[in-house]
Amino acid sequence: MTFTVAIIGRPNVGKSTLFNRLVGRKLAIVHDQPGVTRDRREGRATLMGMEFRVVDTAGFEDDGGDSVEARMRRQTDQAVTAADVALLLIDARAGVTPLDRHFADYLRRLPTPVILVANKCEGKAGAPGLYEAYGLGMGEPVPVSAEHGEGMYELFEALMPHAKAAGALDDEDEDEDDFAPPGDEEAEDAEPDPGRPLTMVIVGRPNVGKSTLGNQLLGQDRLLTGPEAGLTRDAIAVEWEHKGRRLKLVDTAGLRKKAQISDAIEKLSVGNTIESIRMSEVVVLVMDAAAILDKQDLTIARLVVDEGRALVIAINKWDMVDDPQTALKRLRDRLETSLPQAKGVTTVTLSALTGRGVDRLIDAVLETWDTWNRRIPTAGLNRWLEEVIERHPPPALPGGRRYKIRYMTQAKARPPTFVLFATKPDQLPESYIRYLINGLREAFKLPGVPIRLHMRAGK
Ligand code: GDP
Ligand code: GDP
Repeated sequence: MTFTVAIIGRPNVGKSTLFNRLVGRKLAIVHDQPGVTRDRREGRATLMGMEFRVVDTAGFEDDGGDSVEARMRRQTDQAVTAADVALLLIDARAGVTPLDRHFADYLRRLPTPVILVANKCEGKAGAPGLYEAYGLGMGEPVPVSAEHGEGMYELFEALMPHAKAAGALDDEDEDEDDFAPPGDEEAEDAEPDPGRPLTMVIVGRPNVGKSTLGNQLLGQDRLLTGPEAGLTRDAIAVEWEHKGRRLKLVDTAGLRKKAQISDAIEKLSVGNTIESIRMSEVVVLVMDAAAILDKQDLTIARLVVDEGRALVIAINKWDMVDDPQTALKRLRDRLETSLPQAKGVTTVTLSALTGRGVDRLIDAVLETWDTWNRRIPTAGLNRWLEEVIERHPPPALPGGRRYKIRYMTQAKARPPTFVLFATKPDQLPESYIRYLINGLREAFKLPGVPIRLHMRAGK
């Protein structure tokens, strides 16, 4: 049985872009089905190893004449009814429009399950629309950027239960484990899909030892596949296994040297670093023990946090340090004051040259990835919320009225992102939001990863 996904939404939300991303180069069968959907396209999609049929309903707007309602019904009825699940796309940058509501109301009446997808969520411009999307009452929106390929793993996770329900996974004679999402919804910890490696990148200023570290990793007989062409023209990636888990290292100058792809010694440029960070899940920021946390280091660390990636700091050349204890204390103090956004970030001291500490670094990468993926059950979150509010209530509103915080839920993982529903979201002081974030970090053991907390007006 083939699992079929229909992409629905008003014009310009990015349906075709998502379709193309899912179908990729295999872009296939673009067929005309006269009288049904002029521009309905179908293709075979692959997402994290899961295969399905995808139907794009873009183009209904050109279908002359009738009311939006009528056109909508005709164009999407067939596609949706034939599908196992519908993706309702909205444009998070534009926010929720009346036409989006039309679609939501319409889909609600059909038996096909719906996943709400908030597109154009790259960067920060999508955030307000993403939270507005909750108001559609179609469940938790999955934030993606079809154009930039972000959120595809979350989309995979959202589709997973539907693929299972449709029996697509059994029938295709696949090993189910290959498709297992990292724990189900309520799981505290995620295990990576064994079929899919954790992606990491090594960044840092020139001469801190990135290449040496890369080569050390490769030199340890753990390589599964050789350097291969990667996501961008000059990026390369290698995969290996550690304690039964797969890791993929992308885009390091060191690997490139080893592979003799380029003999140019790459100097750090912010542009390159941002690219690398975006390609990865965990970022290892290498610093030289002799010059810890200078301005450039902090700039990179903030970039990692801003991009929502999991950060691990590697203090290299530890073999050269005379007084490790003092050095370590100085480092922790500086981190604490300079990088409050990633409080408790894991730091590993090592020598890339001798290999000492490299195993601990990989352990830290795996642990940080787990934290970054963690999902906290809503009931526990709200029990915690009640307690912290009681212990330290938010300041009163002007006029002495009580500030009401209603409810909290984790909107997504990677990084952990929470939505707080309150009466007057814009009037909760920044200091109180920090108090909540720090509390979340401690109560639910989320050290060293970015935590997002968004406010939303709600009952
Ligand atoms: P459709 O009418 O729903 O099929 O929308 P299209 O796929 O044609 O996209 C409409 C416009 O949105 C195009 O200009 C796309 O380049 C743009 N777009 C699509 N996805 C994204 C995204 O993830 N981010 C941003 N910023 N723009 C996007
Ligand atoms: P990159 O520019 O960040 O890739 O740095 P390299 O890996 O090319 O290393 C710069 C210099 O630091 C080289 O001379 C390395 O041999 C040296 N180096 C790298 N790691 C270590 C280490 O752990 N200890 C010591 N003592 N030197 C190191």
